[in-house]
Amino acid sequence: MKAFKYLIPESVEAAISFYQAHSETARYMAGGTDVIVKVKEGWMEPDYLISLKKIQEMAELHKNEATGELSIGALVTHATLEKSLMIRNDYPILYDAVSNIGSLQVRNMGTIGGNLINAVPSADGAIPLIALDGVALLHGPEGERSCKVIDLFIAPYQTILKPGEILKKITIPPQAPLTGSGYTKFGRRAAMELPLIGIGVLLTLDEESETCTKARICLGVAAPTPMRAQGAEAFLVGKKITEAVLIQAGNLAADESRVRDSIRGTAWHRREMIRVHVRRMGLRCLALIKEGR
Ligand SMILES: Cc1cc2nc3c(=O)[nH]c(=O)nc-3n(C[C@H](O)[C@H](O)[C@H](O)COP(=O)(O)OP(=O)(O)OC[C@H]3O[C@@H](n4cnc5c(N)ncnc54)[C@H](O)[C@@H]3O)c2cc1C
Repeated sequence: MKAFKYLIPESVEAAISFYQAHSETARYMAGGTDVIVKVKEGWMEPDYLISLKKIQEMAELHKNEATGELSIGALVTHATLEKSLMIRNDYPILYDAVSNIGSLQVRNMGTIGGNLINAVPSADGAIPLIALDGVALLHGPEGERSCKVIDLFIAPYQTILKPGEILKKITIPPQAPLTGSGYTKFGRRAAMELPLIGIGVLLTLDEESETCTKARICLGVAAPTPMRAQGAEAFLVGKKITEAVLIQAGNLAADESRVRDSIRGTAWHRREMIRVHVRRMGLRCLALIKEGR
């Protein structure tokens, strides 16, 4: 492994200054669960690793009870999200996703920001944040800008971040009452496995708990970047949600996906799993709404 210098700034501005001073050979690091593997394997050879871990404002998890907006600092770890009762109760889709990432050790170190910026098609953190209409706040040498989480991704391992830009936090708008959500991933093993497919569903029903007013069907490993099955979502809106309707939505989502054959499984198998799990996650949404969560 090539030697590198380790820099530990305590503010976003200081981190960006360090980056600008060494822009050719510097890389940011959060939990390091992706970066350190790449450095050890020689796939990444930075002269400087700029740790973001001491930037306190990026490590905050906060729900504004007055507005209902949730703010998740990019440095918040999967374990912090998993242990939060607020996340477990109010954002089941996020809880489902982060509590099944890697191992306890990976969840203790890995951050939600690193998961997004690493930009693998299977990133478990991306699907719930897209389904929850998350917005990413970026800060770089040219100042701040924001974008929808789904618009962060350009291609596998590629985001819209410009050189030196940092993901500071993700905000989630208030959730409507009578909203249920869930995420599941399907792979050959239950843990420590890149999934064949990841499926997140979020449904909001009207006041009579009858008609669907909002639907999100988000898929991982179904395209080069995390995607929404917008045709299937539109199909659900305005309908009374029954198992038969969810089966039709699953079929539409499977048809919309851009799955492909890989060493982990075939496109056919992935499509079948989308059909099965859109229905199952839809039923889970209904059950959670019935329970009053
Ligand atoms: C054994 C193992 C199992 C795993 N299992 C899973 C799994 O089940 N599901 C899953 O989704 N992932 C899994 N991962 C991948 C990884 O753990 C996660 O993607 C993790 O969330 C990455 O976060 P990190 O803080 O460690 O990122 P880092 O390794 O620190 O960084 C990842 C990338 O993001 C950049 N970066 C990090 N934070 C920022 C920021 N705030 N602003 C700008 N750039 C930033 C870094 O420069 C780097 O390019 C696994 C990894 C390992 C080693």
